[in-house]
Formats: sequence, structure tokens, C-alpha cells
Amino acid sequence: MRFSGKIALVTGAAGGIGAAIVKQLRAEGARVAVADRDVSGVEADAKLPGNLLEAAYADGLPQAAFDALGGLDIVINNAGVITRGKVTETADADWDLSVGVNVQAPFRICRAAIPLLAARGGGAIVNTASCWGLRPGPNHAVYCMTKAAIASLTQCMGMDHAHQNIRINAVCPNEVNTPMLRTGFIKRGFDPDTAVAELGKTVPLGRIAEPDDIADVVLFLASDAARYMCGSLVEVNGGKAVA
Ligand code: NAD
Repeated sequence: MRFSGKIALVTGAAGGIGAAIVKQLRAEGARVAVADRDVSGVEADAKLPGNLLEAAYADGLPQAAFDALGGLDIVINNAGVITRGKVTETADADWDLSVGVNVQAPFRICRAAIPLLAARGGGAIVNTASCWGLRPGPNHAVYCMTKAAIASLTQCMGMDHAHQNIRINAVCPNEVNTPMLRTGFIKRGFDPDTAVAELGKTVPLGRIAEPDDIADVVLFLASDAARYMCGSLVEVNGGKAVA
């Protein structure tokens, strides 16, 4: 029960990785406020549905979690969207969506959460970047840029707020078996089970990640076991580093 007595906010809680994070945090004693567009199917201690593209919603989430559960110790900025294509194929709407969900929303949430955590003597924030935020990936220029942006923001915030006993780190997954990955295969006309199995053969460990593989590392970063980690970008890739 590493998180007994702790209160957490998790965004993207209805998604593949988010649902695993919520389940694990609650299993280890945390009370969890969940945020996503539709949280009706998520078991949680407080439900805060909304659209992260709405500034007032993102700005208000940490205080809403605090008010609902009587405090806030941990914030997991996990929500994300993926847009595909080279820059020349990227519409303004894709840019706005990617930057809005992947960068601006976590920026707003961190900006609002940091004073709340500081007033309680500290806390932990875990952002979700990607291997593609550390090195470039093909045909996803704006997605990669947003993940590089949240990685950089994490490093800067990790440095700026360590003195307040707030540890801010990021997890950087490679491919994970979630709706985000599977719907991408379906859109491109592939059977998702076959495509996931094929992709697994390209990973030195022999399979792509399952959501719990990532959630385990997120919980570690949020826990006291990571007490000396500030601004770290932790790659979780089964041995498949992006070249
Ligand atoms: P997912 O699509 O299953 O979950 C993402 C969740 O974010 C969804 O439930 C979605 O509703 C929510 N979300 C998106 N836009 C939102 C908005 N405007 N307002 C509120 N909620 C919104 O995807 P996932 O694979 O679980 O992704 C979780 C995180 O992991 C993302 O940040 C993603 O970029 C990152 N990631 C995923 C992979 C992968 O291969 N799946 C790899 C690297 C990084």
C-alpha cells in the first residue's frame, strides 16, 4: 500500500494506460480523481469529466480534485492524442488538437497544481512523453514535437520546483497495446491483433508493452522510491530504442 492516504488526479483515465494507472493507484491505497471526456465507465473516488481543450476546465482540474477529495498529492498527466503525417500533411486542426491536448493541457494543469502541492509540503507529477519525444519518428512530425515539448517542460519544471519538494518526471513509452495504437492500425486497414503481434517481433523483449507495463513505471515515479528523481525522462521500451 505505497499510496495509502495519498490523493491523485489522473487525466486520460478512460484510456488504455490511464485506466491501468487508476486501477493500480487505487489498489495501492490512493484515492483517485479521474479526468477524461467520458469517465462513466471508470471506477474512481471522484469523477471530473471534461474536454482538456477547454482552458477553464484544464486550469481548474487540480483545484476540482483537491475540493472533491480534500487534498492533492499526485498528478498524472496521461491524456494524449496522436495525429499522423509529415508537416506538409498537417492541417491547422491537427496542430491545435495535438498542441492543445499534449502540451497546453499539461502546462495548465501543472501551473495550477504546483502551488497546491507546494502548500502541502510537496508532491509528485508524472507526465507522459514518448520515445518519440526523445528522438524523431517518421510521419508523425507534430505528435513527436508535442512529446519533445512535454519532455522539455518536464525537465525544466523538475529543476524549478525541486526546492518545493515537488518531483516532476516523465515516462517515455514506445509502442503500447492501447486504443490509441489499435485504432491507428484499424484506420490504416490492418487487423489490430495481427498488427500488434507483428510489431512485437520488432521489440527485443518480444512483445510491445501492455498498459500495466507503463503504469508500473508511472507508479514508481509517483512513489517515494523515486524520491531523488526530478526532471527525469524514463524510457520504457522493451529494448527497442527509437534510432
Ligand atoms: P488512449 O487513446 O487509450 O487514451 C488517451 C485518453 O486521453 C483517452 O481516454 C482520451 O479520451 C483522452 N483524451 C484525449 N483527448 C482529450 C481531451 N481533449 N479531453 C479529455 N481527455 C482527452 O491512449 P494511450 O495509449 O493510453 O495514451 C496515453 C498516453 O500515452 C498519451 O499521452 C500517449 O501519447 C502516450 N503514449 C502512448 C503510446 C502508445 O503506443 N499507445 C506510446 C507512447 C506514448
